[in-house]
Amino acid sequence: MKKSAPVLIAGAGIAGLTLALALARRKIPSHILEAKPEQIPQGNGIQLSPNATRILIDLGMRVLLEPVVKRPESIIIRSGRHGRILRELPLGQDIEKRYGAPYFVIHRSDLYRKIKKALQNHSNLADVTYDAKVKYFQQNENGIDAITTNRKVYHGCALIGADGIHSGIRSNMREQEYLDFSGYIAWRSLINNTSLLSAPFRKNSISLWLGDKSHIVHYPLHKKINIVFVTTGNLEGKSTHSDELCPIFRNWHPNVNDFLANVHVWQRWPLFSIRTPEDRPWCEGKVLLIGDAAHPILPFLSQGGAMAIEDAVTLSACMAQADGDFASAFKQFENLRSPRVTKIQKQSKLQGFYCHLPRPLSFFRDSFIRLNSVNSGLSRYEWIYSGQPPVK
Ligand SMILES: Cc1cc2nc3c(=O)[nH]c(=O)nc-3n(C[C@H](O)[C@H](O)[C@H](O)COP(=O)(O)OP(=O)(O)OC[C@H]3O[C@@H](n4cnc5c(N)ncnc54)[C@H](O)[C@@H]3O)c2cc1C
Repeated sequence: MKKSAPVLIAGAGIAGLTLALALARRKIPSHILEAKPEQIPQGNGIQLSPNATRILIDLGMRVLLEPVVKRPESIIIRSGRHGRILRELPLGQDIEKRYGAPYFVIHRSDLYRKIKKALQNHSNLADVTYDAKVKYFQQNENGIDAITTNRKVYHGCALIGADGIHSGIRSNMREQEYLDFSGYIAWRSLINNTSLLSAPFRKNSISLWLGDKSHIVHYPLHKKINIVFVTTGNLEGKSTHSDELCPIFRNWHPNVNDFLANVHVWQRWPLFSIRTPEDRPWCEGKVLLIGDAAHPILPFLSQGGAMAIEDAVTLSACMAQADGDFASAFKQFENLRSPRVTKIQKQSKLQGFYCHLPRPLSFFRDSFIRLNSVNSGLSRYEWIYSGQPPVK
């Protein structure tokens, strides 16, 4: 391995930034090429479950994150129609005791900003170039060249495609279409003025409202409230106005309709999944996909970002042990990560089905949640939250 050639990483999202930090801590240099210009990204909120926070804390991020995260006290599951609480599952101290790591919610901009801050301690080992969208790459015996849309060439020892669900690196590697529209649309918004909202929307909890064929998730961030309405829909729809949402939620609790009356503009976000979870490989010689580029995950278990973080540390360990043989390290990585992310992909799809059951099945689902014990509610997530990277 030529020590001077960095690992090229396409994408400064959760996967790319966490990977650069994990590699730097193992003294492996990297260079991130990010398509967007340098500015604080306008993302939304993200939940970070203990399997993700444990890793970020191990990477030395706790002190950086504490001032910008919220720790939700619980997950509250409500009936969309009646507003009644079906079940409340404790988070807060309880979950930290159970899994040895906290449950955080954070604005994505803050998460990116704080990982970049941590990277400054390793500035000789990690570079980020913005406005650098990787268009294609060429592998040869000396390494790999990534060529950007503005025709610049970057040389590295390997290329990691951490460029998200619509990955250009992936389309360079495969001919067949990989993504399927799931039939779900997420409508996302961030609310600044929380004083106008009714009490359920202001609680320091992750709230899940269940109805039939749609659901709502919201939680408070450090300064705002993050809210997502999920409906079924098609790719052709373009509206970003609550006019499209109001009829769907007309029979829901008045708190939900009051909310829609006050929030008019939404980001409309069609959700994609992959054709077959087993459709691999993620690597080709010195090129590897990680995060959403490798394994898009429907957001219903809030695990896509967590899997990107788990990928990053696992990959850094595989690369550190590889003695420059990155092609073998990438195969090892794929074998280690694939069973867990495939299971998460399948469970997330199932969770979407469960949240969107039509009537009368939704009635039985709600009764089941109400009668179920807190412990069995939480134990469903045990295998996810207690997950540890398979190599250290
Ligand atoms: C509604 C919704 C809610 C969600 N909630 C959660 C949650 O609560 N918890 C959770 O863990 N996950 C959640 N997720 C999933 C999570 O957002 C993703 O899994 C995560 O962002 C994936 O990270 P990534 O780094 O792989 O990709 P991305 O975050 O998409 O980052 C990709 C980066 O690559 C850049 N890029 C793209 N193309 C190129 C190119 N050719 N060259 C260079 N750069 C490029 C992009 O600009 C971007 O910066 C949610 C998803 C949705 C849709």
